[in-house]
Amino acid sequence: MSFSKMNLESKVAVVTGGSRGLGRGMALALAEAGADLVVASRTLTSLEKVASEIRALGRKSLAIECDVSNVEDIRRMVQLAKNEMGRIDILVNNAGTIVRREALEMREEDWDPVINTILKGSFFCAQAAARVMIEQKKGKIINIGSLTSKIGIPQRVAYVASRGGILQLTKALAVEWAKYNINVNAIGPGYYETEQTASLFSDKAWTEAALKKIPLGRFGTAEDLAGVVVFLSSDASDYITGQMIFVDGGWLAM
Ligand code: NDP
Repeated sequence: MSFSKMNLESKVAVVTGGSRGLGRGMALALAEAGADLVVASRTLTSLEKVASEIRALGRKSLAIECDVSNVEDIRRMVQLAKNEMGRIDILVNNAGTIVRREALEMREEDWDPVINTILKGSFFCAQAAARVMIEQKKGKIINIGSLTSKIGIPQRVAYVASRGGILQLTKALAVEWAKYNINVNAIGPGYYETEQTASLFSDKAWTEAALKKIPLGRFGTAEDLAGVVVFLSSDASDYITGQMIFVDGGWLAM
């Protein structure tokens, strides 16, 4: 038996950073739930592969090259998405990057791309998508946070600052855009093995220490985000806004 409120048929979702890793996983989950998809990032060849996987599920899909640290690029991407797909119901602000370095050694060229991709990019994508959602009288915006939305972890100060900002961005937009029937929520993943975390996962001492902090005793996989991203995108979550749901195997509950 399926739960019809979680069916996303006839909805259009935009997933930034949809070319690989968690973004690709969430895009496929939304497509499986019935949505048509726009995947956006800086690498068109990788996006086209994901778009083909989505079409193989029977959904429409469009790949759009876009650097979310550039506001003009964001506006062009959102306009193209709206023109080609007809509407935008869901935005997943997933594009992100990290620089791991001692705070005392952090340079401006380390700081800027992290903050500009995660915090500035998420805000301006939300602003551009919200303008479309307001016309449609409903929308769902899902930001991606992290354990570092809540706790400090050393040697990644720009990342931690931007993820803390994402938690507050989520709340600020939730309260401001509730009047437009736009829900703004966030997902806070724990640790997942992807390109972003490859150097950590190749370090046995790190994985052993990290596993001790996860009550469920394993790292996350992209499938672990499928249910929550579909739920927050669907009518089933219409009375939830301004929340970050942590999908961390219990890390933050310890
Ligand atoms: P990946 O490095 O595998 O993927 C990052 C994605 O973001 C890619 O699709 C990349 O595409 C895109 N991206 C990066 N910079 C830009 C940009 N300037 N403009 C547009 N797209 C961009 O990371 P994950 O899949 O692991 O992470 C996905 C998100 O989840 C990130 O925001 C990450 O910080 C966050 N996260 C990850 C966790 C983990 O354990 N893996 C934990 C918590 C949060 P391209 O290079 O083609 O532009």
